[in-house]
Amino acid sequence: MNIESAANSPHVGDWINGGAVHIGASQYINLFNPSSGEVIAQVPVNDAAVVDRAVQSASAAFATWSRVPVLQRGKILFSYRELLTRHSEDLVQLICEENGKTFEEAKGDVARGIEVVEFATGVPHLLKGERLSELASNIDGETIRQPLGVCAGITPFNFPAMVPMWMYPLAIACGNSFVLKPSEKTPLTANRLAELFSQAGLPDGVFNIVHGQKEVVDALCVHPDVSAVSFVGSSHVAEHVYKLAAAHKKRVQASGGAKNVLLVMPDANLESATRAIIGSAFGCAGQRCMAGSLLIAVGNVAQPLRDRVVAAMDQLLLDDTLKNRQAGMGPVIDMRSRDRLLAIIDEAGGQPVELVRDGREQLPERGYFVGPTLFDHVPPGDKLATTELFGPLLSMMRADSLHEAVEWVNSLKYGNGATIFTGSGAAARQFCNDIQCGMVGVNVGVPAPMAVFPFSGWNDSFYGDLHVQGEEGVQFYTRQKVVLSRWDSQYIRQMGW
Ligand code: NAD
Repeated sequence: MNIESAANSPHVGDWINGGAVHIGASQYINLFNPSSGEVIAQVPVNDAAVVDRAVQSASAAFATWSRVPVLQRGKILFSYRELLTRHSEDLVQLICEENGKTFEEAKGDVARGIEVVEFATGVPHLLKGERLSELASNIDGETIRQPLGVCAGITPFNFPAMVPMWMYPLAIACGNSFVLKPSEKTPLTANRLAELFSQAGLPDGVFNIVHGQKEVVDALCVHPDVSAVSFVGSSHVAEHVYKLAAAHKKRVQASGGAKNVLLVMPDANLESATRAIIGSAFGCAGQRCMAGSLLIAVGNVAQPLRDRVVAAMDQLLLDDTLKNRQAGMGPVIDMRSRDRLLAIIDEAGGQPVELVRDGREQLPERGYFVGPTLFDHVPPGDKLATTELFGPLLSMMRADSLHEAVEWVNSLKYGNGATIFTGSGAAARQFCNDIQCGMVGVNVGVPAPMAVFPFSGWNDSFYGDLHVQGEEGVQFYTRQKVVLSRWDSQYIRQMGW
């Protein structure tokens, strides 16, 4: 840590009732630039009292916001979309600085978030109900979607723009108000997102941010005036949030970790498969919930595939992502993550596992870098094959058949993503049908759904029912009312009309 810059670094404010507030928390933690290891700000570790203040602000705003006509809400989302696009360069800069993504990765983070805002601008259409006339004599039926109230979102560090935007734009478009608890490792991007929403005309109090850690999360999960909780992060915290918030009668969606598979058949186009594998395993330094971290080669494709993957790994340039826009791979988020990953490499290797490329070598002098690492001949059940490592560590397995590979994948506890690379429609079809996870790719390195589709984790990658994004997102942030009306035409005759 750079002590001098820590003492001089600015305090990050919370965002409550339409503006930045500095409440004066009893504790602050350092925010680091992972590329350099320098302290760039101090993040407040707030308590339940600050959560209560934000929820009260959101509750008061809900009373009026939920009655703002839906077309007007849609227009504010349109203005927000324009401002986000105009200021995307500032957001990219903040993401590079506090997260360490490369320039292109940070651009992607912002662009995918904006796509959710674009989806949310369609709210007048998305909220339309159904109607059936003459269900019975003189009786009509209709459905109405209404907002829930105050919704809360808790997000991880790895997509500082996109993941929060999976939640609050749609929740707010549907007429809810929102309290976000972003990752304490990436608070600056969240604050800028809030500032731009205010500038777009969002009334004060509709969107609020409270920074902090577990105490803030738990306070949101139990607060009596919070109606729904959206969580994205690691599986053990997802399970905790799911249980705590559900026990307090909230609607909950909690997305967790993953062990995503890249399965290569002997007839795959190795040139494009290798490009996709490198992007999937080492993009964002492997810190993506959809990162391919388990490479399974079926049959005799293993050696030629490995040769190509190793050659492409050797081309990745590790560098400070804020200073060098050409950097091919950035650091991991913090010193703790780096030390954890280096310890995994220290412990792995040895029969039958072969350490083919060692991420402990030739690292930049500063920052929290781990180099691209490849293990081969990883046996089923090995920790390298079953646990989420969340870094640029790729484990390779060799299967005799598609059937054997699918059995290995289906024995994992997670269920986020799996991709097959093949030229065969029959193999792709069988894979799509048999694989036990919610997001499946065919010749696609990262099969992350776009904003119109739900982000559909299964098993320990998701706790809840309705996922973020798409129409499931609309269903999550609204509840449905069914209205039956009887209007007798006889009444008109009686009145002589
Ligand atoms: P994390 O679980 O450590 O933190 C996520 C959020 O939970 C943060 O806001 C954090 O402050 C809070 N938190 C941490 N510990 C807590 C505790 N004990 N009690 C209550 N709250 C707590 O996750 P992370 O390290 O920020 O992000 C990486 C993880 O997120 C990976 O496992 C990754 O797969 C997952 N992720 C999943 C998805 C998905 O859609 N499934 C998307 C992105 C990231």
